[in-house]
Amino acid sequence: TLANADLRALIADVPDHPKPGVVFKDITPLLASPRGYAACVDALVAAAPSGIDAVCGMEARGFLFGAPVALALGAAFVPVRKPGKLPRAVVETSFELEYSSETLAVHADAIAPGARVLIVDDVLATGGTVVATAELVRRLGGELAGVAVVMELAFLQPRALLSRHGVDDVAALL
Ligand code: IMP
Repeated sequence: TLANADLRALIADVPDHPKPGVVFKDITPLLASPRGYAACVDALVAAAPSGIDAVCGMEARGFLFGAPVALALGAAFVPVRKPGKLPRAVVETSFELEYSSETLAVHADAIAPGARVLIVDDVLATGGTVVATAELVRRLGGELAGVAVVMELAFLQPRALLSRHGVDDVAALL
């Protein structure tokens, strides 16, 4: 397995993307490194609480980490999508971003009542996306067991927002 410094070196800083003043964390070099990608998935699996029944991954980069984690855990993978993508009955939630609002959707039958759910994403920034996904998990009757992300942007203080929404079990690799 790789040290955290090696993983960190596989995530590129892209200044002024998608807008001036934002430093975007680009995970594509990590995806291009089979050792790095595998080490990341292994570490997310190791950080997962026990007894996970389903893993929620958010469109689109959350799929890249959530799906292999679900397979490794022997759990269901549940895609959380932008509106209008899922073909059957959905539950949706909207949340405010800095200058816009975002909607996420999940199939209404994707999570069995009482299922223990892990949310997996690449980057935890403000925490809004995780809060919205947690809301969908609860609306479907799931039990949110934890959140695991590759990288947390701690300066945005996502844990304060998550905690206000009752989400306290958060693991970040980097
Ligand atoms: P949040 O809702 O502000 O926490 O933003 C997290 C969501 O936006 C995640 O689904 C990320 O994939 C995406 N995101 C935000 N900032 C970055 C970044 O710097 N690199 C990659 N994805 C990001």
